[in-house]
Amino acid sequence: MTIIELIKKIFLIEILQGLSVTFKHWISPSVTRQYPKEKRVPFPGSRGLHALVRNPVTGNAKCVGCGLCAAMCPSECIYIYTSEGDDNKKVVDRYEIEVLRCVFCGLCVEACPYGALSLTDHFEYSDYTREAFYYTKEMLLENWDKYMSGDKGLEYLDKFWRPRTVDFPVPVIEPKKEEEVAK
Ligand code: SF4
Ligand code: SF4
Repeated sequence: MTIIELIKKIFLIEILQGLSVTFKHWISPSVTRQYPKEKRVPFPGSRGLHALVRNPVTGNAKCVGCGLCAAMCPSECIYIYTSEGDDNKKVVDRYEIEVLRCVFCGLCVEACPYGALSLTDHFEYSDYTREAFYYTKEMLLENWDKYMSGDKGLEYLDKFWRPRTVDFPVPVIEPKKEEEVAK
């Protein structure tokens, strides 16, 4: 054993070095949160519970029952039941999402040509039964009112999903002039 090793042993240098790391972290600010007492604001565009967009004029769902969202869904967890209305227009009788099977890919929102479906930033929806995660049309509309009402929902859709719908401006790409194409 060298002199230096002996001194280290006598004065417990290595133990003190280890403890200094412990004390440093003990007095430094915590990097964890005491959830659920301390909640964090979700990041913009985070993918939480679904919502059906409510038409601010009619108060009904904007969904027309085209079925594109269900066709795109990789989890096949969107169920749409339609019938024919008086004016030969499709009526959405039932629109349901089995949230427990959803992988929150957002393809359904991207696919919707009417901006009628959205994800929200609400992520606290734990429950005790499987049935509680079977969201009906009414529940999905309620989600829009609760979590996306006002400008919040429109901003979320416009900023993060850019659905190609009449409600949101889609950038117009001017066709290239002949001389630019020739270059
Ligand atoms: S987010 Fe993805 S998995 Fe979930 S319902 Fe939409 S398309 Fe299906
Ligand atoms: S794609 Fe949009 S409009 Fe079509 S069924 Fe789905 S939510 Fe409704």
